[in-house]
Amino acid sequence: MPRFPFRLAPLLCLTLAACAETPGPPPASLAPETARATAQPATPSATPAADAAAPLLQAPSFADWLHSFRARALQQGVDAQLFDAVFAGMTPDPAVIRADQGQPEFTRPVWEYLDGALSPTRIRRGQELLAEHRSTLDAIEARYGVDRQFLVAIWGMESNFGQFMGDKSVIRSLATLAHEGRRPAFAEQQLLAALQILGSGDISARGMLGSWAGAMGQTQFIPTTYLSHAVDFDGDGRRDIWGSPADALASAAHYLQASGWQKGRAWGVRVALPGGFDYALADTGIRKTYEQWAALGVKGQPTRVNPQETGYLLLPAGHRGPAFLVFGNFAAILRYNNSSSYALAVGLLGERLAGGAPFTAQWPKDERPLSRSERLELQERLLARGFEPGTPDAIIGANTRRAIRAFQQQLSWPADGHPTPQLLEALRR
Ligand code: CA
Repeated sequence: MPRFPFRLAPLLCLTLAACAETPGPPPASLAPETARATAQPATPSATPAADAAAPLLQAPSFADWLHSFRARALQQGVDAQLFDAVFAGMTPDPAVIRADQGQPEFTRPVWEYLDGALSPTRIRRGQELLAEHRSTLDAIEARYGVDRQFLVAIWGMESNFGQFMGDKSVIRSLATLAHEGRRPAFAEQQLLAALQILGSGDISARGMLGSWAGAMGQTQFIPTTYLSHAVDFDGDGRRDIWGSPADALASAAHYLQASGWQKGRAWGVRVALPGGFDYALADTGIRKTYEQWAALGVKGQPTRVNPQETGYLLLPAGHRGPAFLVFGNFAAILRYNNSSSYALAVGLLGERLAGGAPFTAQWPKDERPLSRSERLELQERLLARGFEPGTPDAIIGANTRRAIRAFQQQLSWPADGHPTPQLLEALRR
């Protein structure tokens, strides 16, 4: 069978890709907007072309997959009757596959993302809700030690305070992704957790609605996060993150508490950097106390900063934009949704909700973000020049930033690790 290994190759790639991208602890939520394109560990397109000539090695049909999944689910303790009722007549959802395979080519600049996240309407609504839910939030703060304004900010970011929770069947979406998504193992794990939730009686299959990726309810929890952190705070016996703001807010608080939230502490502080500052110090791996940063000329108004806590410098738009020192509470928000734009939005929105002054900054608005194909090209060109950006995947992570920095240092440019069209131009020369 000389063609056998030839046909096997794409199948192996698929499996390896699925293994390599399986994250450690998944975030509570899956970033909905721009943040997703900029910072989420999205996957490269590893989908091999369908090989019509090799029916034996093709992925199983949905029905065949469902049959084998049923055995695995029952082995995990899922009730057979529940399983059969939930999956009766189910077909995969093509819209979910389209969403899963869609790689957005263009990314909104961070200042536009923040403008949307901190819109006057959202700030006003958030402040109303802080007042409306005051006694619930008192109790949540007392139990979990998480500052209310950031809980309400997350509520606003995740579902616009419960208005946009997604209207897709979580079971159907996850089944579709487990059958033919880019991360089938992850989707199947989430699907098993979703079935476990149904088994607990907290929600009906019909009521279990969420995003195409399976993020559920007002907190947009993925099912495993629901199982580990959702709570029944209003005491009706059900953990209802869909219909109960008290349950949703307390569940988010429980998750942030587990992620190391420190009540009353600053998530970060806006800072000014001195002339001639070495921007290579703005690296998530370089952490110092506020005092140590101050000794390097980094200046801010450090209210509520824990003097023992270390933080790193964040330049969301490179050296031409604003700078922040960010601390443990910022990291806790990142655990919720692993995007620094998202965490920054939650931090700034929370401050606004608590009566803080509007955030204003000079952004490099003449500089457009690189498109997905440009980010890929940037990584390939860095690689070709002997830098180490990691496997080109269009995601600007720590390795790519370090590679950019090394190239910037070679050019004697400010080494902020920030990808720009100018940098790509320099790489093309
Ligand atoms: Ca409840």
